[in-house]
Amino acid sequence: MSAPSVLVVGGGFAGLSAAIRAIELGARVTLVEATRHGGGRARSFEDRTLGCTIDNGQHLMMGCYHHTRAFLRALDAENLVDFQRDLTVSMVRPGGNPSRLRCPALPAPWHLGAGLLGMRGLGWRHKAVALRAGLLLASEVRRPDDTETCDAWLRRMGQTAAVRAQFWEPLIWATLNEDPLVASAAMLLAVLERAFLGTRDDSTLGVPRRPLSELYVPRALERIEAAGGSVHLGDPVRRLHVEDGRVAGVTTRGGRRFDAGRVIAALPPHALLEILPDDWRVHPEFADVARLTYAPIVNLWARVRRSPLDGQPFVGLVHSPIHWVFDRTRIEGRDDDEPVLSCTISGAYGFLRDTAKSLQDLFVAEMRRFFPKVPVEVVAFKAIKEKRATISHAAGTYGLRPTVASPIAGLFLAGDWVRTGIPATIESACQSGHEAAALAARPAAGGWQDGPRPRIRAVP
Ligand SMILES: Cc1cc2nc3c(=O)[nH]c(=O)nc-3n(C[C@H](O)[C@H](O)[C@H](O)COP(=O)(O)OP(=O)(O)OC[C@H]3O[C@@H](n4cnc5c(N)ncnc54)[C@H](O)[C@@H]3O)c2cc1C
Repeated sequence: MSAPSVLVVGGGFAGLSAAIRAIELGARVTLVEATRHGGGRARSFEDRTLGCTIDNGQHLMMGCYHHTRAFLRALDAENLVDFQRDLTVSMVRPGGNPSRLRCPALPAPWHLGAGLLGMRGLGWRHKAVALRAGLLLASEVRRPDDTETCDAWLRRMGQTAAVRAQFWEPLIWATLNEDPLVASAAMLLAVLERAFLGTRDDSTLGVPRRPLSELYVPRALERIEAAGGSVHLGDPVRRLHVEDGRVAGVTTRGGRRFDAGRVIAALPPHALLEILPDDWRVHPEFADVARLTYAPIVNLWARVRRSPLDGQPFVGLVHSPIHWVFDRTRIEGRDDDEPVLSCTISGAYGFLRDTAKSLQDLFVAEMRRFFPKVPVEVVAFKAIKEKRATISHAAGTYGLRPTVASPIAGLFLAGDWVRTGIPATIESACQSGHEAAALAARPAAGGWQDGPRPRIRAVP
C-alpha cells in the first residue's frame, strides 16, 4: 500500500500543522505557498528601521492551545514559547495605577475565583459580580447564543463598568479582535470554556520568546522535505481544478500544474474564493464564505530609550485604544541598550487610515498618560497595519464559517476561520489543520487509491 499524497496550499499555521500531521499519519506532502517566506499572518522579518527581527504583530498563546502546542512539540519548538506557571495579567490604569489578576495554584475554576477575589485595584462589589458570572459560566457555555453580543451578555450577567474595563473587555478585544458591542457572546463563551473550565494550566498565557517564523516555519518546511515531500514557495495557486465534483489539482500563477486527489486549502477566505472555479463559487457554502468580513489589527513597534514596563514582559492598558504593551527586548532576553516595545491595537478599524506620524504621536501620548514617571523617548518607530488580521466575530456570523470537509470531494478546508468552535486564532488554525489532515490522509476503503505524490507539469 503506497503512502497517500496530500497537496497542501498555504504555509501559515493551518497549512503547516496540516502538513506535519499528514506526515505523522503516513502521507507524502506537497506544499505550495504564495510567498517566498511562508508564515502568513504570523510571521517575522528583519526590519531596518528598528534594527532587529520583528513580527507582523505580537502574538499571545494560551495554555489551552492544545493543537498548537502539539504542533510545536512535533517541531521541538514548544520550549520557544514561555508559558506562565499560573495565570497572571498586569493591567495599568491612566496615571500608572496597577491592577493585577494573579490566580493561585488551585484547581480550575477555583483559581480564577480566588484570583478575582484578590485582584488589586478592583472594589468588592465589582469582584462579587465577576464571581457571580464565574459561577454561572458552566451553565452559560451549555447554551451559547451566537446572535447575542458580548455587551448584551455582560449586561445580562450584571457586570459593572469597572470589572468590564479591567477584566472582560481586555479579554474580548484580545481573543475576539472585535468590539464587545458587536462581538459574539458565543465566541467569548467558547474561549472561557477552554481557558477556565479545563485545567489550571489551560488559562495561562504563553509569549513566544523568539520571532514568530523561527518557531515553526523553517522547521516545518525542513520536516516536509525530510519526509520525502516537496515544498514550492513563491508561486501562488491561481486555480483549483474540480472534475465531476472531485478535486483534481491546482495550477499556479507560475504555470505549474499539480495533479492531486486530496487537497487541503489552508488559505484565508478571500484567497480560497479567488482560486475556486466560477461554478463552485456560487455554491451556498462558498457563498456564505463571501459574506464573512475582516477585522484589522494595528501593531506599533518602537525602540525607546528606556522601557516604562519596569521589568514586566507585558501589561494591558485600561481605557486606552492601545490594548497591550510588550517589552520584546526583555521577552527575548536580549541586552539592547534601547529596548524594543510592541503594542497591539485590536479591532483597529479606526486606525487604518492614520499616518505613521499620527500613530507615533498616539503611542507617545498614551505612554505618557499611563507611565508618567518614565517619559518615553522614541528612537525608531514602525506601524504595521494588518487589514485582514482575522475574520470579524460579529454576533451572528459563526454560521457562515464552513466545515473542514468541503462540498467538493477530496478538498478539505483549513484556516483559523473555518468552523472550529473557537475564534480565529493560532489554535483554531492548528485545530483545523489537524482535522483536515486526519480527513485527507485517511486511507480510502480499498487502500490508498490516489497513487504516488502529486504530479507536476507545466501548463501552456
Ligand atoms: C497582527 C496580528 C496579531 C495576532 N495576534 C494573535 C494572537 O495574539 N493570538 C492568536 O492566537 N492569534 C493571533 N492572530 C491570528 C493568527 O495570526 C492567525 O489566526 C493565524 O496566523 C492564521 O493562520 P492560517 O494558516 O489560518 O492563515 P494565514 O496565516 O493567513 O496563512 C495562509 C497562507 O496562505 C498563503 N496563500 C494565500 N493565497 C495563496 C495562494 N493563492 N496560493 C498559495 N498560498 C497562498 C499565504 O501567503 C499564507 O502564508 C493575530 C493576527 C495578526 C495579523
